[in-house]
Amino acid sequence: RREEVSTPKRTKEIIQKYGFQFKKSLGQNFLIDQNILGKIVGAADLDSSKGALEIGPGIGALTEKLADAAGKVVAVEIDQRLLPILGDVLQPFSHVKVVHGDVLKLDLKQLFQEEFGGVSQVSVVANLPYYVTTPILMKLLEERLPLENIVVMIQKEVAERMAAAPGGKEYGSLSIAVQYFSEPELVCVVPHTVFIPQPNVDSAVIRLKVRQERPVEVRDEAFFFEVVQASFAQRRKTISNNLKSRFFAKEDRTELERLLALADIEPVRRAETLSIEEFARLSNVFHEAGV
Ligand code: SAM
Repeated sequence: RREEVSTPKRTKEIIQKYGFQFKKSLGQNFLIDQNILGKIVGAADLDSSKGALEIGPGIGALTEKLADAAGKVVAVEIDQRLLPILGDVLQPFSHVKVVHGDVLKLDLKQLFQEEFGGVSQVSVVANLPYYVTTPILMKLLEERLPLENIVVMIQKEVAERMAAAPGGKEYGSLSIAVQYFSEPELVCVVPHTVFIPQPNVDSAVIRLKVRQERPVEVRDEAFFFEVVQASFAQRRKTISNNLKSRFFAKEDRTELERLLALADIEPVRRAETLSIEEFARLSNVFHEAGV
C-alpha cells in the first residue's frame, strides 16, 4: 500500500500532480498530521460492524483512515475537481463510496437507507468546512438521523460554545440547541500547523454523543427554541425584559410575572444562567397559557 495521503510530502505531491488550487470559499484546509487524524478516528469509536459518514473528504486524508476503521464509509464532497483525486486515492477500498453534492441539500435520510443498511451504527466524522459548521451540525441533529456520534474538527470558539455550561459568556442558544440533541465533549484543541493551507482561526475536535432520548420534556419544540432565542436576544438584559419585548404587549406585563413565578424563575435573572430544564419549564408554562 502507498504512503498515507496525510503526510505533508504526499499531500504536496497529490496537489501538484493534479494542479489543485485551494478554494478558500469552500473552507478547504487539508489535514497533514497523523496524530490528529488518529485522535479524530479514535473518538468516533468505530469498528468493522459500523459505518461512517464523512462530510468534505478533500483529497482523502481522513477518508482512508475511516476506511481502515469502519465497515462502510460514505464521503460527501461538493467540489467536483476533487472527484478524480478521490477516485485514485480511495481506489483500494471497495467499501468506500464518494458522493458528489452539497451536504446541506442532500436527502440524508434517503442516503442512510441506501448506503447504511448493512451496518449496526453510523457516526459522522469530518474536518468540517468552517463557513458552514453550524448549519451542517444543526441539519444532522434536527433531522434525527440514526447517529451514534458526531466527531468533527471545527473552529475552537464554536466548539466551546457548543459544550458550554450555564453561567458563562460562551453559553447561549447554540449550546442549548446542541445539548438538547447530544452530549458534547471537547476532544482536543488543534494548532494551525496541522493544516495546509493554515486557517486563520484556532480549531478543536468535538464529539457529540447523539441522544437517543430527549433530556427534557418539551411540549412544542419549535416554540421551546423560540423562547430560548428570545431570552438571549440581548444578553445584558434580564430574562423578563427580553421575553417582554418578544411575547407580551404592555397591558400583559403582570401575566408575564405570573408565568415566570409559575415556572419558578426569578424575573431579574439573565438567560445565560438558565439550564435547559428551566427553559423547558418556562416554554411549557408559556405554551399552556397560550402565549
Ligand atoms: N477531510 C479533508 C481533510 O481533513 O484534509 C478536507 C477538509 S476541508 C476543511 C473541508 C472539505 O469540505 C473540502 O474538501 C470542501 O471542498 C468540502 N466542502 C465544503 N463545503 C461543502 C458542502 N456544503 N458539502 C460537502 N462538502 C463540502
